[in-house]
Amino acid sequence: MQLYSTNNQDNIVDLKEAVLQSLPKDKGLYMPTHIPKLSNEFFENIEDYSFADIAFEVAKSLIGDYIEVGALRGIIDRAINFPAPVVMHDEAVGTLELFHGPSLAFKDFGARFMAELISHFIKREEKHVTILVATSGDTGGAVAAGFYNTPGIEVIILYPKGKVSDLQEKQLTTLGNNITALEIEGTFDDCQAIVKEAFLDPQLTEKYNLSSANSINIARLIPQSFYYFEAYKQIKKRGKKTVFSVPSGNFGNLTAGLLAKKMGLPIDHFIAATNINNIVPKYLETGIYKPKPSVATISNAMDVGSPSNFTRLLALYDNDYEALKSDVSGFYISDHVDKIVMKDIYDQYSYVADPHGAIGYAAIKEFQKKNDDYIGIYLETAHPAKFLDVVNDVLPVKAKVPARLQAVADKEKVAHLLKPEFKGVKDWLMKR
Ligand SMILES: *Cc1c(COP(=O)(O)O)cnc(C)c1O
Repeated sequence: MQLYSTNNQDNIVDLKEAVLQSLPKDKGLYMPTHIPKLSNEFFENIEDYSFADIAFEVAKSLIGDYIEVGALRGIIDRAINFPAPVVMHDEAVGTLELFHGPSLAFKDFGARFMAELISHFIKREEKHVTILVATSGDTGGAVAAGFYNTPGIEVIILYPKGKVSDLQEKQLTTLGNNITALEIEGTFDDCQAIVKEAFLDPQLTEKYNLSSANSINIARLIPQSFYYFEAYKQIKKRGKKTVFSVPSGNFGNLTAGLLAKKMGLPIDHFIAATNINNIVPKYLETGIYKPKPSVATISNAMDVGSPSNFTRLLALYDNDYEALKSDVSGFYISDHVDKIVMKDIYDQYSYVADPHGAIGYAAIKEFQKKNDDYIGIYLETAHPAKFLDVVNDVLPVKAKVPARLQAVADKEKVAHLLKPEFKGVKDWLMKR
């Protein structure tokens, strides 16, 4: 498998380099040079495949013989070992639940696959890799769980003090062993800036083999395409046109869906659903892309003012705005409406949706006003118990906290408190 940088088509690397390097030096994003189509036979017989079988077929067609098939099958079986069920609310609307992994968010798919892949790449070299990652909430938990106890890999997570939920913080700070949490007395942007500077620092890169696990890493994108195929398998027998609605922030999830479509998945339309951080819906409406500072909302995993995967979205469509627009519609709502929608879903279907998924649902309802011949599937990107404050405030019932989240909540936090300055973080890293 070969990948090019979106800033320079001639900058071509193999999968190992793309994964370990994360970002090309020219600051573009890695994309596959060739996007294969899966066979008609695969789609005709997809009901006979397990989720892991599907993931293996998709990965094999993308990665080719770059990883030996037996090893690839092992990577898939260990990474994709929890389900992605479609739960229909009625004949026309359903949700794809992506929260059945260890950290209860869809980011588990990306994090686990990436951990397996890096582990595979470094195994023979006895190399040691340090993953440095900034999180505003869900990424840290998924990366911590995904890389926990992976030999040869150490993870250092920077998170903004007081700006992630209690449960999210516990997911980052209670595992220990090869997972270290740095609590930064600043904002997410400070954490992000420190990480970026660390990657450019000669002394740090000399001491550590640094790699990044944020959503621009191609190893996170690839496995996120698997569950679109898995969802299709579950709704195929209904024989209707389908729209997927994707609650979005950095747009990795939506890009993965469009990648699946490019690989031949028969999905008719997608919706880019956001909160008031509506850069991409506005772009789809006007053709003008205008990043702006992010605004805090109750769907905080989507509070992104400059979506990092936007370049990839465009690259999939050869920068053709009209072509992108014919496959993807934009939609956005305020917190006020989001709460009403969460309540509406509960009242109608007795289903507890989280504040991110509810935006996806609202988008489908709007879309179906003009397109009543479609089945709509919205992605439940995280378990509602991860957003207890909002859910318990809006709904007449309390969200059930799954046992594995409760277990984490009861453990003791261990984090190193540091100032939001690169120098202090660097000193700390150099002294270890
Ligand atoms: C990360 C996240 C999103 C946004 O996903 P992108 O791929 O960045 O668009 C949406 N919902 C939840 C719960 C998340 O954790």
